[in-house]
Amino acid sequence: MDSGKSTLALQTNHNHAARGRIGRIFTTHDRSGAALLSSRLGLTHEALEVAPDFDFWKYVVDTLTQGGRIDYLICDEAQFYTPAQIEQLAKVVDELQIDVFAFGILTDFRSLLFPGSARLVELADRMNVLQVEALCWCGKRATHNARTENGAMVTEGDVVVVGDVEAVDTDPAEVAYEVLCRQHHRRNLTAARAKAVALAPEPLPFG
Ligand SMILES: [Zn+2]
Repeated sequence: MDSGKSTLALQTNHNHAARGRIGRIFTTHDRSGAALLSSRLGLTHEALEVAPDFDFWKYVVDTLTQGGRIDYLICDEAQFYTPAQIEQLAKVVDELQIDVFAFGILTDFRSLLFPGSARLVELADRMNVLQVEALCWCGKRATHNARTENGAMVTEGDVVVVGDVEAVDTDPAEVAYEVLCRQHHRRNLTAARAKAVALAPEPLPFG
């Protein structure tokens, strides 16, 4: 799942802050579990948590009204924002001339667009695909997110699951994400399953 986007988000913030610009960093469901933007390279920065009822427009207007300064917004994990929040961000850009840099992934583990990502694609002035490419276990470019529970790929369930899934009567499933090429996502063939199949004495059921 990690394609280096949080690293790029922090780098973007650093570049603008170094020029004396004042920004705010937002994230939601960060891997650290706190209102912190963290990247797999170990970089972190304090961030504001975006709850579903958070209003970007109101936050920015209130801040400016109280004499605060905002030149830009860094918005990580934007796939989890609501379409309404993405529209608030577009309004911030258009009405207040504040730059918004949004970082996120396009599709969920079912290979469907997140509602927030869909709205972002529809409204964004510019869109860039990250140059830091993740690879599937087979070596091909990884384009699809897979969710695994206890090592097995799942294609149904809540779209947003971070960390362990709570279950009342059973042990919590260990939830993880893995990026795969489209072919192996279609075949539910994660790295663990491919390894197990390769070690099995039976002939491979797939080519
Ligand atoms: Zn693959």
